Amino acid sequence: MDTKLDTKLIQIEDTKKIKDEELSEAAAIIRRGGLVAFPTETVYGLGANALDEEAARKIYAAKGRPSDNPLIAHISCLKELEPLVSEIPEAGRKLAEKYWPGPLTMVFPKSEKVPYGTTGGLDTVAVRMPSDPVANRLIALAGVPIAAPSANTSGRPSPTMAEHVWQDMNGKIDMIIDGGPVGIGVESTIVDVSGEVPMLLRPGAVTMEMLRETVGRVEMDPAIQGPPKENLRPKAPGMKYRHYAPKAALTLVEGETDNVVAEINRLVKEHMAAGERVGVICTEETKERYPEGILRSIGVRSQEETIAHNLFAVLREFDDLQVDCIFSESFSKHDLGQAIMNRLTKAAGYHIIKV
Ligand code: AMP
Ligand code: MG
Repeated sequence: MDTKLDTKLIQIEDTKKIKDEELSEAAAIIRRGGLVAFPTETVYGLGANALDEEAARKIYAAKGRPSDNPLIAHISCLKELEPLVSEIPEAGRKLAEKYWPGPLTMVFPKSEKVPYGTTGGLDTVAVRMPSDPVANRLIALAGVPIAAPSANTSGRPSPTMAEHVWQDMNGKIDMIIDGGPVGIGVESTIVDVSGEVPMLLRPGAVTMEMLRETVGRVEMDPAIQGPPKENLRPKAPGMKYRHYAPKAALTLVEGETDNVVAEINRLVKEHMAAGERVGVICTEETKERYPEGILRSIGVRSQEETIAHNLFAVLREFDDLQVDCIFSESFSKHDLGQAIMNRLTKAAGYHIIKV
């Protein structure tokens, strides 16, 4: 961007007792077409008025985001959904009842009110109702749906703390609201409910198992189940980009724990001998077993929520440490593990060693 903005950073005193005065300036910025980054329960979002094409354009510019990658419109209550969509299919209604507010985004056929500048030219619109009290209150006070992709520079790991947003967005947006570290740490689940059978487009904290329990049959977009293929385009346009990428080459090692630890230790030795700075992503259960390399524990293997919560912060930390390569343990592909492995395998550019 050519003009540098004076980015204001505000701190929420107590996120459990938000005073409207704390958010009134932020709401006014959104209403007049500016950009405000704010916490949600998944990751920090970069918000603008979803009904204002010009404001949406500013999001793409600040993030360096490709313009065919549509934005999610955030609402604060169910009555705000109706004006945005031309239809609320049965599955959408059931899932909204069960998981809103929460980390679930649904794709609906869009109404005329939603500009193509927000949907990347698509006739559908993605909508989410966040449960985070700061996000929810901000949307209600702004009085308009807020388009909010993750508040990172395109291609960098999503921000899970206000400090990450500051690193990427200082000088490019009007305001950052610091509400402390987020709860979940990976982006929302995306389900397309505009077709006959609901389809999972991006795994997240509302898992495939949970979706199926509520609406029965749910399919998974085949294009997100493996490395990118030329003739198989992901239904969520954003999923085709190499997201979340740390600057260093990341390799995942998959297999039985003892074999994984042995292989990572062997790789660390080999790369250190070649003069490289080597990072290792391990877990609380295994951290004593790596004598060499720059070690970061990503969480407790038996508590997947801790791994989701720390994932992007660990990738950013390795960027700051300027390592040349990173070797990481792998995780189960069930429940929340599906979202964790989706992000990790993409960050690794699908470079996986099986032992
Ligand atoms: P972000 O908020 O940056 O995590 O990205 C939003 C994700 O939602 C991207 O992967 C988009 O491609 C996806 N998305 C937004 N709107 C739609 C839509 N109408 N149809 C399918 N995917 C969508
Ligand atoms: Mg993103």
